[in-house]
Amino acid sequence: MIRRIGLAAVIVLAPLLAVAAPAGVAQVDDTRLAHAEREPQNWLTHGGDWNERRFSRLAQINVQTVRRLKPAWYFDYDTTRGQEATPLVVDGVMYVSTAWSKVYALDARTGRQIWFFDPKVPGSAAVPTCCDIVNRGVAVYKGLVYVGTVDGRLIALNAATGTPVWSTVTTPVGTTYSITGAPRVARDKVFIGNAGSEFGGRGYVSAYDARSGKLIWRFYTVPGDPAAKQDGAASDEVLARLARPTWFGDWYKYGGGGHVWNALVFDPDLNQVYFGTGNGYPWSRVHRSAGKGDNLFIASIVAVDADTGRYKWHYQEVPGEEWDYDAIADITLVDLRIDGQLKKVLLHAPKDGFFYVIERATGKVLSAQPYISGLNWATRVDLATGRPEIVAAARYQDAPWLGIPGGGGGHNWQPVAFSPMTGLIYIPATESSTYYELLPEFRYVQGIPHIGINRESMVHGGPASGPPKGPTGAANSAYLLAWNPVTQSEAWRANGRGNGVLATAGNLVFQGRSRAGLLGELVAFRADTGERVWSYNTPNAIVAGPVMYSVGGEQYVAVSSGPSAVVFTPPARMRDNGRMLAFKLDGTATLPPDSPLAPPANPPDQIASSTAYNTGKAHYDLYCARCHGFDAQSANVIPDLRRSPMLTDKSAWKRVVIDGALTDRGMVSWAKFLSPADAETIRAYVGEQARALQQQELSSSSTR
Ligand code: CA
Repeated sequence: MIRRIGLAAVIVLAPLLAVAAPAGVAQVDDTRLAHAEREPQNWLTHGGDWNERRFSRLAQINVQTVRRLKPAWYFDYDTTRGQEATPLVVDGVMYVSTAWSKVYALDARTGRQIWFFDPKVPGSAAVPTCCDIVNRGVAVYKGLVYVGTVDGRLIALNAATGTPVWSTVTTPVGTTYSITGAPRVARDKVFIGNAGSEFGGRGYVSAYDARSGKLIWRFYTVPGDPAAKQDGAASDEVLARLARPTWFGDWYKYGGGGHVWNALVFDPDLNQVYFGTGNGYPWSRVHRSAGKGDNLFIASIVAVDADTGRYKWHYQEVPGEEWDYDAIADITLVDLRIDGQLKKVLLHAPKDGFFYVIERATGKVLSAQPYISGLNWATRVDLATGRPEIVAAARYQDAPWLGIPGGGGGHNWQPVAFSPMTGLIYIPATESSTYYELLPEFRYVQGIPHIGINRESMVHGGPASGPPKGPTGAANSAYLLAWNPVTQSEAWRANGRGNGVLATAGNLVFQGRSRAGLLGELVAFRADTGERVWSYNTPNAIVAGPVMYSVGGEQYVAVSSGPSAVVFTPPARMRDNGRMLAFKLDGTATLPPDSPLAPPANPPDQIASSTAYNTGKAHYDLYCARCHGFDAQSANVIPDLRRSPMLTDKSAWKRVVIDGALTDRGMVSWAKFLSPADAETIRAYVGEQARALQQQELSSSSTR
């Protein structure tokens, strides 16, 4: 059962007056934020400004000069784990969060560390995360820096010193919520959501007083237990009136999902906040809501009053969602001329594969067209009703369904960018499929991501009993897509698996990419044509959003490099720390050499019995695979166990799996679920996977 959420007390860590930041340090206020275009030397918010367009007006680095772009400085983090944060730059200081919710302040001209803050997230907080203990960024406001932590805290730091000023627990303790998203600030409030829709729970957004950390309002995205009292939250009225009638069955026992884990945008024109909500939990609507109902407000964009959290409107992109089609992609605010009229709209390219143009005042969808090919869960969006025409078989009630896009989405959370110069929005697009096969029974276990569908067939992209069809996404493609939101048509595409995007006044689009899985590159394309004009190879894939800023008359492009734990096609390498990279014209920094390849496979001498193998595989798939990779194949961000020295050391294996020797790194004890004998079967299974890898490595080296 999901516990009811109490309002946690704020811990004031230091007297507010005594720690007020010195004048000039990160004194970002509403006036500066409202006119961010007047100071293109800074990158003041997660998306560059309140509109979150990720467009830089700086043009010293442009189509003509970009070939001279070279490293200016670099700064190595203290962790190998995933890096997804967009840095902020305010008056020459860069603020960036990293894996484990740590925060650095760096001199934006030199990369010198000014301060470092470690919230000391317990390793156990890594367990209820789908995709590593990442953090996507901080917010800066009136001398304070705000970060959400994986274990659910919102912390305000003195921007001058990194000293905590206040900290508040935003999620119920002892449950499966986490925070990976960036807070947003406006009008003396900090807005923060949370993640966890693969583990159960109810999504919600909270607004806190920016100075004191006191809760101002909270909005739940799905209704709670009908037998319980209301939440006493801003969402009470609308949940009872609109949302509750769209739910059936026992959803409240598991929570229902709808977590707000990424998009969260303040609109100064209308004083409202928009947020995108996650998928329903469990995925299958049969198990979640007796197979019927829209299940408001999952997979939706919701608009609420910024001051009170009062409901304004919602647009549900995927009614009764059951394909992991979170509606959490970045929301971009623009004014577009549509049919001769200038309209205030928001742009959205969510996982479901449709590109939406939505009127900000009303929530009316003005247009919606597929931005990837092959989309097969709906035939179209009916603009009269705003509803998609969902293909009945796509709901996989009677037979499995190979859905396009897959659960990874046509586009996931990775930052998009809009250029007012080209009128185009740049989307890191992917085409993939997921095999959805309903499980007859659903079992909820807190902390284990049972989702109501067959994980085995999902991972292998087809029936688990039939011939394997290769891993999900094997027959996929990825590209940077330049999309015209007015005509709903493609302007150009640049093939390759890429992530966060930045558009600039130099007619450039920068994108961080992955090469062969774990390696990376930062690439610049012409914004108008898509011609590739510059690239720089990095030892780590780049997942995060790049930014542009200027100090002392020199312009910089900066991006956090660091792998994503969910990188596809993993050729493993030595685990390598994440790194902030800053480039400028004629930069002269020399980077350290790349790390070597990963150590070879390390299978034990003894061959596993088929009983041990099969038992071990079942345990592995349920408890280990979502971090260490299915089939024990991992990109080695979270260790590739086939190469682990512990694989040949029974007692070391037990110390980690049963006794929790590596808890501080997120590898907790699994003694609650597994006996030492069970752990041995997992070692047997992984051992055979290691033996297969060893054969592969031997044959590829002999043919070289
Ligand atoms: Ca999800």
